[in-house]
Amino acid sequence: MDLQLIDTGFFYADGGAMFGAIPKTAWSRRYPCDERNGCVLAMRTVLVTTDCGRIILIDNGAGEKHLKQLSYYRFFALADLNTELLKRGISPEQITDVVLTHLHFDHCGYVTREKQQPDHTPGYELSFPNATHWVSRRQWENFLHPNALEKDSYFIENMQAVEENGKLYLIDEDTQLCPVVNLRLFDGHTPGQIAPYITMPERTYVFAGDVIPLEASVSPEWISAYDTYPVLSYREKIRMLEEAAREKQALIYCHDAYTRCSTVKKVNAFYKKENVINL
Ligand SMILES: [Zn+2]
Repeated sequence: MDLQLIDTGFFYADGGAMFGAIPKTAWSRRYPCDERNGCVLAMRTVLVTTDCGRIILIDNGAGEKHLKQLSYYRFFALADLNTELLKRGISPEQITDVVLTHLHFDHCGYVTREKQQPDHTPGYELSFPNATHWVSRRQWENFLHPNALEKDSYFIENMQAVEENGKLYLIDEDTQLCPVVNLRLFDGHTPGQIAPYITMPERTYVFAGDVIPLEASVSPEWISAYDTYPVLSYREKIRMLEEAAREKQALIYCHDAYTRCSTVKKVNAFYKKENVINL
């Protein structure tokens, strides 16, 4: 059993958007920004190899298909995920499962790649052709019929080939992927976001996704303006944090360019980072 983090690249997000109603005087002490108010965000992937023969990839960054359209985000240090996997002795064909926390472009863009078609029309192929792609049904329906606030974050080309190849697997509720990986659903940021819980011998790791994207977002009221349903986000963060503090689970922060993983503790009514875990 093995768990590794792979950063597939970085981009800039507006600090005001990342921290919503929190004033810059407060958030900039906990997360730096540049002169344009840009905060560097990572796009983090988790690679889990289980004793029962699964090789699982959780999220996979923005990929390359839409970088021009998304140039506002100033992407940099993009890694080729296939190369990163090969460095670790794993071929893309060996990936058995791709878990997509949700379908915003910065989490699922690498799932498909452009392929050369004989008639030069655009076509897409799967980056992980043998993998089952796990998505929640509510997220999938939101992707196909997006609300006005999320529609610019979704690109059909990222997922169409997955469905057409019969590799999409939709879940309706919390679901066990295998004995050591549980997929649990959290709302608020977007409907039916999956948070994978990975049980390792030393502790359980929670891929917190955009429920808690940064260590600076551990305070429940530090909610991003990208969250579609902020009051629900607040409640869902407390649900995740309460258990993480009690059970000594470690949170993996998918977007934090500085702190990749930590445990959390509850101090009176507040939640704080406890120990940073170097993965
Ligand atoms: Zn998102």
